[in-house]
Amino acid sequence: MRAYLVTLTALAALGGACGGSVPAAHETALPAAPSPTLSPSGRALTGKTVVIDPGHNGGNAAHPKEINRQVDIITGRKACNTVGTQTDDGYQEHAFTWDVASRLKPILENMGAEVVLTRPDDKGVGPCVTERAEIGNKARANAVVSIHADGAAPSGHGFHVIMPGLLRGHNDAVVEPSRRLGLDVRNAYRAGTGMPYATYRGKDGLQTRTDLGGLNLSKRPAVFVECGNMRNSGDAAKLSDPGFRQRIADSLAAGIKRFLT
Ligand SMILES: [Zn+2]
Repeated sequence: MRAYLVTLTALAALGGACGGSVPAAHETALPAAPSPTLSPSGRALTGKTVVIDPGHNGGNAAHPKEINRQVDIITGRKACNTVGTQTDDGYQEHAFTWDVASRLKPILENMGAEVVLTRPDDKGVGPCVTERAEIGNKARANAVVSIHADGAAPSGHGFHVIMPGLLRGHNDAVVEPSRRLGLDVRNAYRAGTGMPYATYRGKDGLQTRTDLGGLNLSKRPAVFVECGNMRNSGDAAKLSDPGFRQRIADSLAAGIKRFLT
């Protein structure tokens, strides 16, 4: 339990964080061309791979040794993974991120996307942030969205999207597409959930960071979404509501679709 508290404190100190082919023209008359956003099968995301990363994991708190193992994230060394935060009522961030990811996956699949999750359930340990990034790289994901909720001071509320900063020689090619993914996800989240931009961090719901392994190590367009502040009573009530989590999932899907089409 002590390790758990230390990890939470460390996390707070770090400031939370706890993206078809069209038939070629023919001489003979063809039927009307399909909409440019639709694949030949008629589903907008056919041929696209989306990696969803539900932050943390249900078994992390009980395995401090594995979780606190230091890993290289280019700009420094950091814990393999963390336990995440929770609401004052004890709703855990890992459960929240797993629930939202589980709602988001079928929405994207219904649009035709192949969806890969970075963990198979909410009972395991890790994986490390390095492994989570590698899952997106190996899948050659068109977009990677890491789902989190924040554990900031209770007075702060709202959501923000975190984008990778430029680390020359490491992520040059994905900084710009990640920025576009971030804008699309931010706009869709704001419109779909009605949540305001975070009052306590970032600007206009956006922040760039170079201290997150999941972003630093990604070779694919990637963002983190801090869906709200679990330590704020108003945000906590929203994040604890299954209906609101469905709106979050719908909104994230809309932002990802916008980016990919
Ligand atoms: Zn988190």
